[in-house]
Amino acid sequence: MEACFAAFDKDEDGSININEFSALCKALFRNEKGKPYKLDSQQVSDLFMIFNTSGDGSMSKQEFVYCWNGWIKKIVRPQSALVVVDVQNDFISGSLALHRPVIEAAEEQDNLETRDAALYIQPRMLDTVPFDMHCYSLDWHPKDHISFIENVGIRTLAADSPIQDGGKCNLYDLVIFEGPPKTSQILWPAHCIQESWGAELHKDLKVHPNAKTVFKGVNPQLDSYSAFYDNQKLSKTILDELIRKEGVSDLYICGIATDVCVASTAFHALELGFRTALVSDASRGINLENINAAYNRIKEEHGVIVNSTEVKAMVQGRDRRPELGYKLALECRKNITYPAKNKNSKYNKQITNNDGNMNGNETISNPPQLVRA
Ligand SMILES: [Zn+2]
Repeated sequence: MEACFAAFDKDEDGSININEFSALCKALFRNEKGKPYKLDSQQVSDLFMIFNTSGDGSMSKQEFVYCWNGWIKKIVRPQSALVVVDVQNDFISGSLALHRPVIEAAEEQDNLETRDAALYIQPRMLDTVPFDMHCYSLDWHPKDHISFIENVGIRTLAADSPIQDGGKCNLYDLVIFEGPPKTSQILWPAHCIQESWGAELHKDLKVHPNAKTVFKGVNPQLDSYSAFYDNQKLSKTILDELIRKEGVSDLYICGIATDVCVASTAFHALELGFRTALVSDASRGINLENINAAYNRIKEEHGVIVNSTEVKAMVQGRDRRPELGYKLALECRKNITYPAKNKNSKYNKQITNNDGNMNGNETISNPPQLVRA
């Protein structure tokens, strides 16, 4: 820490100014060949204001300590998990298999079939990338699950459902069930029924011996695309807890289908504060337009779309993406209480009084988190 501070405090005034911080960012955000990534000055300024807590325009050594522990160290030595979503028989060769030409989208990336993407690329990552954790999600539905077209008749359609006659539904139609809870639902063929062959992970999928397994879609009344929450966010799986227990900050998400369960998992990962990468060539999707929309949303929320060949250098901290650094800084911001002078003071956490009223003058002054030595 001391050496880093001294190295970038070029004018030796005992603090880091914006120009010195800009040089630090240039050194920090590089690809594996050592080439700096482009950072626009607004982003550098945003980052500076997050860590120049006082807002006085110069980062003191005390402020730098948090920047070092909460940000720089995590970027240089990330803790990473591979999250493999729903690589199950039914999605590969069973009732909901993604066959060509449905997955023409994949052609843009490579020529591998769904089966190969899941069963070749993912194991290759497993063999070559030193992930700190491995997680596998399984779609795991009871027989009477709400998402099955075969079950449309066992629930009441809502008055505003676009289709009123359950007998006239086609696959992939959207209906609204009365509930409770009232639920918009796309109708899929029965798939991934608990304990069935279709719900098993594909036999050729290489599963890490210490892998964690997460079951989703287990409630008959709720569908669950994401491996974190059901589609209505009424319940949460154990995935977030498992990941946090391991101190993991970076998630590499892949599997089936890119534009459905993989994308939903990535959106929630970002929402939960993880640095998130979707591994595109180890995933397969259904609809190109939806895939691109998912990619765009992930990028807008400071996640990245990567190829499996890029993952190793990122996990090893040799390829350090500015997008993920920015995301982590936004997470750091949540734990800092700023004086009014710093424009980030508008993000200060507000606490409620016992009577439940917000008191804007009080803030929770969490000490900056100093984790992972
Ligand atoms: Zn399902």
